[in-house]
Amino acid sequence: MADSIIIRTRDLTKAYGTKVAVNHLNLEIRRGEIFGLLGPNGAGKTTTILMLLGLTEPTLGNALIDEHDCTRESMHVKRITGYLPDNAGFYSDMTGRENLRFTARLNGLPEKEIDPLIDRLLERVSMTYAADQKTGTYSKGMRQRLAIADILIKDPEVIIMDEPTLGLDPEGMREFLELIKELSVKDGKTILVSSHQLYQIQQICDRVGIFVDGSLIACGGIGELGSQIASRGHYTLEIEAEPCDDRFLGFIGGMKSVTGVSKEGNTFVISSSEDLRSEITKFLGMNDYKLLHMHQKGGDLDEIYRVYFEEADKEERGESDGKGSRKHRFGRGRK
Ligand code: ATP
Repeated sequence: MADSIIIRTRDLTKAYGTKVAVNHLNLEIRRGEIFGLLGPNGAGKTTTILMLLGLTEPTLGNALIDEHDCTRESMHVKRITGYLPDNAGFYSDMTGRENLRFTARLNGLPEKEIDPLIDRLLERVSMTYAADQKTGTYSKGMRQRLAIADILIKDPEVIIMDEPTLGLDPEGMREFLELIKELSVKDGKTILVSSHQLYQIQQICDRVGIFVDGSLIACGGIGELGSQIASRGHYTLEIEAEPCDDRFLGFIGGMKSVTGVSKEGNTFVISSSEDLRSEITKFLGMNDYKLLHMHQKGGDLDEIYRVYFEEADKEERGESDGKGSRKHRFGRGRK
């Protein structure tokens, strides 16, 4: 069962009037994996999540969780799926423990099982120390951790998180990402996490889907997407040499596979359709330059986005002449 599909969408589509928020989405998420649904604001991530949770109906197509239709069998789907919104709400004048007790009772857990379970879950999310504090005094990171405990009360197979790391400080972020990873690795939960924060998500996802304007434009492991880029002839090289002079810049600009050069401090960042490393080191060696730094970029999400969005933009411009480049509002977040 390790690689069986637990979330499947088939031509899942949602239109609001003439606006197509999600466009024929075909997605397969494996049991136990962390899948990142990544895209800029307005890409359609939340709409997809709402359809998975049975909270809004597709215009076309369907979504299944564990073979159950998310619209027609939404009660079953809700039983096996936990949802963490970007800002989990609790009763602020109740303590963390009281809030969890409230959820446990709502879920119909036998009274004598509730307190021992809550103790275990608070321990699990490192919140025992604040269990008897009112949630109105919690930081964002504490609320998000308590929200995970809250979700775990019903022991769901799937956990869906919508922008869960927004507003967390670096330490809160690190702890929260560790917790997400543990839920997948130790507990075997399947996790779908939507985000526009590239770096955080890159650290924990087994696979990512890149979502733009309602369509999935790429899907796979980070390494897989990275090598797809290299095999399509996209290279980015950072290089710093001494002296950093016009002759060196002229040489770089003169190479036929170079498609762009920018300068960051004393470092040139060169985009090209071929690997330039040997040609450049040969030039430097023959002309008495000193090589200070050379790094072939690629394979990280930033590069993946850049390449896929450039291609998506080109296609769009090809179809509608003169439209210009779209602006995608992705956040790099804190590294
Ligand atoms: P964000 O991170 O900003 O929430 P998102 O990727 O989650 O972005 P959605 O919220 O799913 O994107 O929105 C996708 C598109 O659908 C947007 O253009 C949005 O304006 C539109 N949209 C979403 N909900 C509605 C609605 N109820 N009525 C009309 N349009 C909507």
